[in-house]
Amino acid sequence: MTGADVDWVLEAFVDCGGRDSILYEQRPHLGSNKLPMICRNFRRKIEAAGGEYLFDCCVEGLIVRDGQIVGLQTSSGEIATRHVILGIGHSARDTYEMLHELGVPMIQKPFQLGLRIEQSQEQINAHKYGHSEYEQILGAADYTIVAKGQRDLYSFCMCAGGFVIPSVSEPGMFCTNGMSRSRHDTPYANSGLMVTLEPHEFGSPHPLAGMELQRQFERIAYELGRADYLCPIQSAESFLNPGSSSPSLPSSYERGVVLADLHAVLPDAVSKAIEIGLPLMDQKWRGDFLKNATLVGPEMRGSAPVRIDRDLKSRQTQGFQGLYPVGEGAGYAGGIITAAVDGLRSAREIVLEFAAIGH
Ligand SMILES: Cc1cc2nc3c(=O)[nH]c(=O)nc-3n(C[C@H](O)[C@H](O)[C@H](O)COP(=O)(O)OP(=O)(O)OC[C@H]3O[C@@H](n4cnc5c(N)ncnc54)[C@H](O)[C@@H]3O)c2cc1C
Repeated sequence: MTGADVDWVLEAFVDCGGRDSILYEQRPHLGSNKLPMICRNFRRKIEAAGGEYLFDCCVEGLIVRDGQIVGLQTSSGEIATRHVILGIGHSARDTYEMLHELGVPMIQKPFQLGLRIEQSQEQINAHKYGHSEYEQILGAADYTIVAKGQRDLYSFCMCAGGFVIPSVSEPGMFCTNGMSRSRHDTPYANSGLMVTLEPHEFGSPHPLAGMELQRQFERIAYELGRADYLCPIQSAESFLNPGSSSPSLPSSYERGVVLADLHAVLPDAVSKAIEIGLPLMDQKWRGDFLKNATLVGPEMRGSAPVRIDRDLKSRQTQGFQGLYPVGEGAGYAGGIITAAVDGLRSAREIVLEFAAIGH
């Protein structure tokens, strides 16, 4: 990513109500509570420029003639267009299936999965700051931590003073995610603990095999959660020493938790990597990382398990001229900024095409 594109995106967020400090902070954070207002302001800007939003409208098919996109089939009828920016996110499983059936070229790609760890925010502050008064000045502390090994284990999407929340894509399945409000004001810290799975571990060469693997473990998590979206939870100590008993455990997950063996919601290779990596992380933190820590999961939303093919230069999919797959769902981004920058670049290509016609 070039700095100019990142700056463009950050400035667009500030323009739409994000706080100025995201322009210079090392880890810019808007706050999930601010996002509805910011998204509404984005929409108003786009509408003022002539754009139109179709709510409750699902893209159900691509209309292609002689290798050129000429329209979309949607739940609200057909839309004629020769340009489609396809930014579907990494959880649009029905859309992935539709694209695959239409022959849109896709390949498996490595993706991240694991658990989330929760500790008290006070414990994180004490470890990171040393002095309690620093918390008043610096706010809730965050962290990044990696345990290097045959298979790295790393923190992901650390939510200081945040919540564990459900991140459910389909009925009958369950997985977790995390978020923080802008004030980072809960007593809990949570973070993903992720491991990368490679395509040869998906168990099938089918392009959507990674997605099926996600489904397999999300179904188990749903059953463990009593088919009621309760969150499976286990103390870190009991995960590492099976047999050690878990008392009832605190968590920011509001719908309720259910004690479970979290090995059940992960492929063996991922469980193993967490078993090896967690004690290494704890050593780095001199025992402060796992003290009273709980694990919840699974966390499956690190990145997409599939990549939609596109030409490097034109950014369009071969055989589907006019189709611009972008962002996290297309497998070219991970996170808000990279997804936005990726979409920006494809939009720029389309603008250039029209500019060339205009000359
Ligand atoms: C709880 C949570 C917290 C997060 N926190 C952070 C964070 O702090 N920082 C960060 O960088 N990232 C965070 N992320 C990740 C971030 O949200 C994503 O990386 C980013 O939104 C990806 O952008 P995108 O535009 O590629 O896809 P999305 O934002 O997922 O957008 C895809 C859109 O396409 C729509 N769609 C899909 N299929 C169809 C269809 N067939 N027809 C019509 N519409 C369709 C979807 O409904 C969705 O609105 C978080 C994610 C979650 C879930």
